[in-house]
Amino acid sequence: MRVRVAVFTLGGTIAMAPGPASGAPGAVPALTGQQLLDAVPGLDGIDAEVHEFRQLPSASLTIADIGELAAAIGERIAAGAAGAVVIQGTDTIEETAFLLDLLHAGPEPVVVTGAMRTPAAAGADGPANILAAVRAAASPVLRDLGALVVFGEEIHAARFVRKADTTSVTAFASPVAGPLGRVVEGEPRLLTRPATRFTVPVTTPLRPVRTGLVALALGDDGELLRAAAGRFDGLVVAALGAGHVPAATMPALAALAGQVPVVFGSRTGRGWVLSGVYGFAGSERDLLGVGLISAGVLEPVKARLLLHVLLAAGASRAEIDAAFRTAAG
Ligand code: ASP
Repeated sequence: MRVRVAVFTLGGTIAMAPGPASGAPGAVPALTGQQLLDAVPGLDGIDAEVHEFRQLPSASLTIADIGELAAAIGERIAAGAAGAVVIQGTDTIEETAFLLDLLHAGPEPVVVTGAMRTPAAAGADGPANILAAVRAAASPVLRDLGALVVFGEEIHAARFVRKADTTSVTAFASPVAGPLGRVVEGEPRLLTRPATRFTVPVTTPLRPVRTGLVALALGDDGELLRAAAGRFDGLVVAALGAGHVPAATMPALAALAGQVPVVFGSRTGRGWVLSGVYGFAGSERDLLGVGLISAGVLEPVKARLLLHVLLAAGASRAEIDAAFRTAAG
């Protein structure tokens, strides 16, 4: 029996055409989902049903778009698809994939991919990435792993992957965990599985909430944090190193944490924030002491999405603390 995979196209470089074809001076999303699939050889044995969902550069996708996408994926899976593929711009893949990971509780693989080169570029990587992603989504090998990113033949867990290069065709990496496996000869080969999986039961459309991300830096005196007061339902700060902030920002952080949930992660992009090693003003102990929540191993952009979904689900402060304890490893 042929396996059915639901393919959702959202735009991105993989669908972009430059100059005359698009009528714009630079590359913009132009190709249809069917045109993308038509350019992929080797999909025999798989029925790829194409859904043209959005046609955007991925920086302009929204959390609401991805909530809607999660619901659409759920509908196609309920209708018999073995898995889903999301084809989109690479700039936000690490976030959209993680959001889908939080929202998709079923065993079917949801595989996100894109391309670093436009279809017209020499050595365009789109067709190979689409082929690998569709075969991955059709495979029983990748069931029960939530959302995955398949890119440059590697399979990454949504929770750990990040875009780690601006232009390379191997732009995606999982610095803290490594890839889960590879797609070899058109088949996914799994090397390892994440120890846990975490989803948030929430109905879509997601309740609109506002969450922010503030990156802290050398000499920061808390001005941006003070400006954030009263504007967000929850905030994430990208702290330095293992979870440290300039002492001058502590009063603003303590005030914010008294009003809304404030999470701290590390801007390093790899490793856990600590909980009990340092005791200086602005240390992780100081942050936890005034009520900030640890993002653990989650990168700040992902911690923000987890916080967003929890707030959209109406989670209490105790539920948010518990969710971060589990999801943050
Ligand atoms: N700016 C593009 C996007 O994310 C980049 C890409 O697709 O690689 O839509």
